[in-house]
Amino acid sequence: MGGWAIAVHGGAGVDPNLPLERQQQAKALLTRCLNLGISALRSSLPAIDVVELVVRELETDPLFNSGRGSALTEKGTVEMEASIMDGNGRRCGAVSGITTVKNPISLARLVMDKSPHSYLAFSGAEEFAKQQGVEMVGNDYFVTEDNVGMLKLAKEAKAILFDYRIPLESTCGAAAESPIQMNGLPISIYAPETVGCVVVDGEGSCAAATSTGGLMNKMTGRIGDSPIIGAGTYACEVCGVSCTGEGEAILRGTLARDVAALMEYKGLGLQEAVDRVVQKRLDQGKAGLIAVSYKGEVAYGFNCVGMFRGFATEDGFMEVGIWD
Ligand code: ASP
Repeated sequence: MGGWAIAVHGGAGVDPNLPLERQQQAKALLTRCLNLGISALRSSLPAIDVVELVVRELETDPLFNSGRGSALTEKGTVEMEASIMDGNGRRCGAVSGITTVKNPISLARLVMDKSPHSYLAFSGAEEFAKQQGVEMVGNDYFVTEDNVGMLKLAKEAKAILFDYRIPLESTCGAAAESPIQMNGLPISIYAPETVGCVVVDGEGSCAAATSTGGLMNKMTGRIGDSPIIGAGTYACEVCGVSCTGEGEAILRGTLARDVAALMEYKGLGLQEAVDRVVQKRLDQGKAGLIAVSYKGEVAYGFNCVGMFRGFATEDGFMEVGIWD
């Protein structure tokens, strides 16, 4: 066993011109979350508790697209989704269509621990949240000024945005040469996205958690990859994986489960499995993922401009990065 390890992400797809201040804010938040996870692991908290703790912190901070600061639906409302999986026993819980629960990841955890099911959505999930007595707030709590502006841009461009991608026309005055297009529009990517955390604890147990507001200007009722076990999130005896990017592409590629399957059935190493999945199962420019193995390794991969990410291992390695 190689000791504990932790990885966090704040979304894939980053504008190459992201202002320095915004980069620093993102790195500071990722570092804070890593440190939170590290102290929990040093206190011997199990992996499943650590991923929940870290994702709660990310949901509470409005910088990334989860909890407060979530991307908005076409109606200007927030519909959040989250999932969590404990590799130890392959237990999992997921929620979608969450409008009033302050920390959707903890509701996903309760679905796993306290319900007979794996996945609850919309009114049933909200009802369950009330029964469980989790902290609830008005939908307005999640809506930030930044996101109201972003939704306006998305509507002007008649585009469902990959969270925070701004049509270049709106930001640069002219439709510059963007290699990335959505709905036929050249787009730039301005701010961080979905959040996730994967952990292997000192006992070699892996866990994964992912939380998101989804896509900016999405249809109400849209469900992406983040709450789908095997697509956006997966954990088993060998690894934990959390994905981010265009949900429809991640769903088609069953990215998270494919990483585990390559390790389990083909005996690939963690980084090798991640690379294979990114190369073979993902359309160009669409997504990224972070992963840990039971051996205490960390790995990541993405095929877009950048991914907000951070890693730490028990032997003292720590890194926070955005670009390739
Ligand atoms: N994967 C998320 C979704 O499609 C978005 C993201 O990762 O930023 O809902």
